[in-house]
Amino acid sequence: MAKKIPIRQCAACREHREKPSLARIVRTPDGQITYDPRGKVSGRGAYICKRLSCLEKAIKTKALSRALECAISDEVYTQLRSMMEEDDDADG
Ligand SMILES: [Zn+2]
Repeated sequence: MAKKIPIRQCAACREHREKPSLARIVRTPDGQITYDPRGKVSGRGAYICKRLSCLEKAIKTKALSRALECAISDEVYTQLRSMMEEDDDADG
């Protein structure tokens, strides 16, 4: 009886992946953009693969800004990058 894992789409590469292999970025109701490592923050979410290549692509194409209809600060990208550098041995 395996629990069904939710599937989300990466904003950068458009691949559908299991939620745990994606990073969630949230626009909170007060308009803050934040990286949400636990998936608990309420608000509008966007997802990207935990891969530096997708992060770079998202920065270049502003995919996350478009998904959340809001500018993303460098601070958020920096947070995501340092998380992915730690996590990068999984794939890619
Ligand atoms: Zn991706």
